[in-house]
Amino acid sequence: MTCAIREGAEIKIWHRLDHLRGFKRQRAMSKNGYPVKIGILGCMAERLKEKLIEKEKSVDIVAGPDSYRDLPRLLAVTENGQTAVNVLLSLDETYADVVPVRLNKNNITAFISVMRGCDNMCTYCIVPFTRGKERSRPVTSIVDEIKLLSDQGVKEVTLLGQNVNSYRDISQQTEKYETNLAKGFKTVYKTKKGGLRFADLLEKVSSVDPEMRIRFTAAHPKDFPDEVLQIITERSNICNQLHLPAQSGSSTVLERMRRGYTREAYLELVAKVRSVIPGVALSTDMICGFCGETEEEFQETLTLMETVRYHTAFLFSYSMREKTTAYRRYKDDVPNDVKKDRHTRMLKLYIQSCHVLNQAELGKVHLVLIESINKKTQQLVGRNEMYLKVNVDQTEILSEDGGKRAIKIGDYVAVKITDAKASAFSGVPLYHTSIKEFYRDKCYGNEIVVQL
Ligand code: SAH
Ligand code: SF4
Repeated sequence: MTCAIREGAEIKIWHRLDHLRGFKRQRAMSKNGYPVKIGILGCMAERLKEKLIEKEKSVDIVAGPDSYRDLPRLLAVTENGQTAVNVLLSLDETYADVVPVRLNKNNITAFISVMRGCDNMCTYCIVPFTRGKERSRPVTSIVDEIKLLSDQGVKEVTLLGQNVNSYRDISQQTEKYETNLAKGFKTVYKTKKGGLRFADLLEKVSSVDPEMRIRFTAAHPKDFPDEVLQIITERSNICNQLHLPAQSGSSTVLERMRRGYTREAYLELVAKVRSVIPGVALSTDMICGFCGETEEEFQETLTLMETVRYHTAFLFSYSMREKTTAYRRYKDDVPNDVKKDRHTRMLKLYIQSCHVLNQAELGKVHLVLIESINKKTQQLVGRNEMYLKVNVDQTEILSEDGGKRAIKIGDYVAVKITDAKASAFSGVPLYHTSIKEFYRDKCYGNEIVVQL
């Protein structure tokens, strides 16, 4: 399963193929075991298509992101030694009726794809070419999957899409709101009309199980409706955390990237988000070294990061991709060592600002969902609402019925934060709780006194 977003992702696959080729040869020579078939699936398959087979003779199947239903036929084609290719992109494939098999049934978190493709055409990005046109999965199929996951004990679901704010289930018509783009934001494509929107989806999804946490990513800043902010504040199981990728802090770079907003419009949106959802944790993606990026423009990225203060940031050096508008129109003219240096400076600033933000949480009580055990330290590892890791010792704590019981994976625990690093917290687990109880206590200022 491959990615094509940056060159680095593809280089990893080429290395992996070297290894798999040897494995396939070994198998072919051994008397035992089935012969090995190598299939390259996903975005790299879509991007390179037949070129992949010309370069890599040992590949049996090349299947793009919209052709997974065809895999049984493709495998059958390979039976007589042929190579099978399907890289057709679809206008409506969402795999809505395919119920994923969960390989690790003990996982209490899950990811659900709510839409596919992207119509945004940011000039640096290959996604619209490898994933095709934007299409949304019907609400009913998403809600059904969430019900199933809830029955299986899943406690947290992340809804995935390239731009969840343009979600639109047109199989269900509604007379409801149409959001207009706010001042300072524009879009390159004609927005569709009607159907159920992302706020409707959030409303339905968060109603399935009030004890199931809901997160979503990514939210393009360009069309962020008030209704989405409203539902986040109304539902305590929708986490107060937003991935709002800025990509750059410079309006001129943003213009070249065709992001559809200026630095000022982005900062206004951040201010609005923070006023509607106090305490919201923001995360971002940032690219340094995009075509023509000057030192001054880059510094605007640093000052934006300083101003916003992100809890989480994914920082990338620009990697030129064929087919994109930037490839056709601009020059990848920022030298590699400058890109590297800018990346290091972004990272340094980000770590510093995380440190400050996280220190401010010391002494506060967080609602933590316990996800796993760290095999090395034997500590329990969970996440707070901000999606940051919280480590706690294994111990017995006050349970809902007034007794004491050990903490297990899947429990919600109130944790007092006692140590804050840039990337994780440690704390003292106080008592077992639930989303409902934790926020009721917080709302009424109830303090549960626990002997530490
Ligand atoms: N749809 C999401 C992003 C999906 S791709 C959004 O618009 O926010 C994930 C991230 O990869 C992007 O946000 C961007 O920061 C980064 N990215 C995309 N193309 C890139 C490229 N050519 N070089 C470096 N980073 C890139
Ligand atoms: Fe790529 Fe832009 Fe679409 Fe995100 S919104 S997937 S960055 S084209």
